[in-house]
Amino acid sequence: MPTMNKDLLRALPSVDALLNVASDLISLYGRDFVRGAIRAVLDETRQQVLAGNSPNIDEAILITHVQTYIAQQLQPSLRPVINATGVIIHTNLGRAPLSLTALKAMQDVAAGYSTLEYDLANGTRGSRHQHIEDILLNITGAEAALVVNNNAAGTVLALSALAHGHEVIVSRGQLVEIGGGFRVPEIMRQSGAILVEIGTTNRTRAADYEHAITENTALLMRVHSSNFKQIGFTEETPLESITSIAHQHGLTVLDDLGSGSLIDTAQYGLDHEPTVQESLAAGCDLVAFSGDKLLGGPQAGIIVGKHDLIQRLKRHPLARAFRTDKLCLAALHTTLDHYRMGNAIQHIPVWQMIARPYAEIQAQAQAWAAQLNADVIPGESTVGGGSLPGSTLPTALLSISHPQPDAIAAQLRTLTTPIIARITDGKIVFDPRTILPEQVHTFIQLLKGVFNEK
Ligand SMILES: *Cc1c(COP(=O)(O)O)cnc(C)c1O
Repeated sequence: MPTMNKDLLRALPSVDALLNVASDLISLYGRDFVRGAIRAVLDETRQQVLAGNSPNIDEAILITHVQTYIAQQLQPSLRPVINATGVIIHTNLGRAPLSLTALKAMQDVAAGYSTLEYDLANGTRGSRHQHIEDILLNITGAEAALVVNNNAAGTVLALSALAHGHEVIVSRGQLVEIGGGFRVPEIMRQSGAILVEIGTTNRTRAADYEHAITENTALLMRVHSSNFKQIGFTEETPLESITSIAHQHGLTVLDDLGSGSLIDTAQYGLDHEPTVQESLAAGCDLVAFSGDKLLGGPQAGIIVGKHDLIQRLKRHPLARAFRTDKLCLAALHTTLDHYRMGNAIQHIPVWQMIARPYAEIQAQAQAWAAQLNADVIPGESTVGGGSLPGSTLPTALLSISHPQPDAIAAQLRTLTTPIIARITDGKIVFDPRTILPEQVHTFIQLLKGVFNEK
């Protein structure tokens, strides 16, 4: 070890010495927390010296390191990012952003007491389910409804309550794995239901359902294949045929719609995503779907359908384990109100993004390109969230060339508000469609900072 390093080690200030000059930090963050941060910074500095470096060990400099260390420690790891990927319901980036009205409703309920389980008219205990049920019936036309934590929970609840120890018939073409480890056969096993596979991967006919029914059959289940698409020599049994076979045998049909939609996606140039109303019209007894996919609300699992079946689900012990909290109910209620009032497209971010005209996106990309000395190239946005695989929306991408696009993408992820971009053909591209209006200013300032310093 060179003598220089030994001197540096010896000259390193003590924890107490730094604590004595850290009174500002101590008043903000508390003595114990600051002491921990000082120890960590001194350790790090010592390691640098031992590695043969000569870090600046001036007290004032070390205190700025302590400050940075504290800021890093207090930075929540769950925090907002700018989604420039063009994937609207991005599973890794928190799925659906909430409407401003939903945020307001959550805030109002979060900050104080509420009527969560209180009946104001009678001054007695009320039901947390009631808040949402009426509006879901109003929108979907179903007889009854139940809301749980997410659609995976909804499916487990329905299978546990209706098919424990009994057979559930599912087409082999629908035994899919959805992101995040949701696999239909495993969900089935967990619920105590006995999976009966029918048909082949690519073709399942009405007769296959017919032949599989036994004394012990409880349910015929349809699972939306989500982010998986079959093309070519394929055949799926129409939902109407499945429900008609089931009802002839006094059986129930459970439809796991996945995303589900309350609005026809085809009117925005996308493929048609099956709607909740269609499943009910086709005779499904229970339809399960997510709150934070195409619905555009908070994480939730919504089950609508026959009154007696929903009652059985509500009475099952898992209903209590899977129940939603007041914040979710407040946000979901307000989100559903937009559907009831017919202004979902104007207020729900997922639908605003889907409906956003190409010309508007292009004009925005061009305005940004002019400020940043960048290009605009044509591209495609996707809906994501396990809906509409292979279906895209035309978009205009802000495109920046750089010799090391991966390094730039990594740097963009370290910004105060991280920007998640895409790399296409060696260029870093940003899709305006998924950048929220209130983030635009920050986005441009951050990009100017990154690219003007290059
Ligand atoms: C997304 C999805 C689920 C899971 O829903 P969560 O709300 O994420 O729990 C289940 N089934 C299908 C078909 C899906 O697409």
